[in-house]
Amino acid sequence: MILRNLHSITEDKVIDIHIDGGKISAVRDRGAIPDNSKALNFDNALVFPGLINSHDHLDFNLFPQLGNRVYSNYVEWSHDIQKENRAEIDKVLKIPKDLRVKWGVYKNLLCGVTTVVNHGTTLSVPDDLINVFQQCYSLHSILLEKHWKRRLLKPFRNSWPFAIHIGEGTDDKTRKEIDTFIKWNLLKRKTIGIHGVAMNAKQAEAFSALVWCPDSNYFLLGKTADIAALKKNTRILFGTDSTVSAGWNIWEHLRAARKEKALSDDELFNALTTEAAAIWGLGRKGRIETGYEADIVIAKRQPGKNTMDAFYTTEPADILAVTKGGVIKLFDASLREQLNVEGMDLSNYHKIMIEGCEKYVWGDLPKLITEVTQYNPEVVFPVE
Ligand SMILES: [Zn+2]
Repeated sequence: MILRNLHSITEDKVIDIHIDGGKISAVRDRGAIPDNSKALNFDNALVFPGLINSHDHLDFNLFPQLGNRVYSNYVEWSHDIQKENRAEIDKVLKIPKDLRVKWGVYKNLLCGVTTVVNHGTTLSVPDDLINVFQQCYSLHSILLEKHWKRRLLKPFRNSWPFAIHIGEGTDDKTRKEIDTFIKWNLLKRKTIGIHGVAMNAKQAEAFSALVWCPDSNYFLLGKTADIAALKKNTRILFGTDSTVSAGWNIWEHLRAARKEKALSDDELFNALTTEAAAIWGLGRKGRIETGYEADIVIAKRQPGKNTMDAFYTTEPADILAVTKGGVIKLFDASLREQLNVEGMDLSNYHKIMIEGCEKYVWGDLPKLITEVTQYNPEVVFPVE
């Protein structure tokens, strides 16, 4: 398959992408080589690698955002919502976990995320929509996981990294828990911290990377991490967290992050692509380059915007196509005719509407929505 006439955002030129066996087999200037194999033609479209969301809880994305005030730390928040929002929590938890997880996967796909790092116990989740990365040891946190030390220090671990919520607060208690973790990481396990709102630059040195989740941080704590200082001593990745603490749309998170001016446009882009691929050891992902996996997103290009501005103004409704391993997992109705002409079997896809735009997604998302609604009619989906 060839994807034609796409504006590259990393090189500011128009390219054709050739895909073979799930990989990108060539990236050429537009029209450089005529080719008779299957091609999809785009017009005024932007292309970028499938995004890598470095932090989510896939089974927690049917929750509405739960919180009743600004909190000093995650323990306060957790206790408060368990008490004040108990009924809402129970109504979501009674929805079978496999349905909740499936929606969590779709939430990511609809935004152009092709790899998500799930935090928590290992989920059995089919890998056919997007890549779900679980090859790491998830520790919840210092204060809410009883046996974190034992798990961290258990000998003969393989080389998987550890991931832990750390410094998710604005008070002294959360700042000190970071020191506690550093003191006890006696075996210097490769650790990726999540949040780091209370983290200082010195503490950041002890972490291989920090996953920045600004939307969740602002919702819970009214503040986010000092990324401008922390990036000097650790590497920065980007995560959404789940909808219990953050909005469903990663693009809104990215625009909020961009306003912080803590990362350059390129650094923020890399946090979602090359940096994430390197830190989690994902192999050849995160680039539109020959030999890389064909995890690709194509979106409408806003007229008059330069490439990075165009990238950051993207909305889920603008996404024209998402491929995972060279297979189209989502496409816009405007491509339907071309796909029909190419003789592609479209029976695996189902129609949904997102902000008034017609899209087709792999698998039966409408059925999933109906099933969830039967368990809990109060769940609000961003798609119909
Ligand atoms: Zn989390």
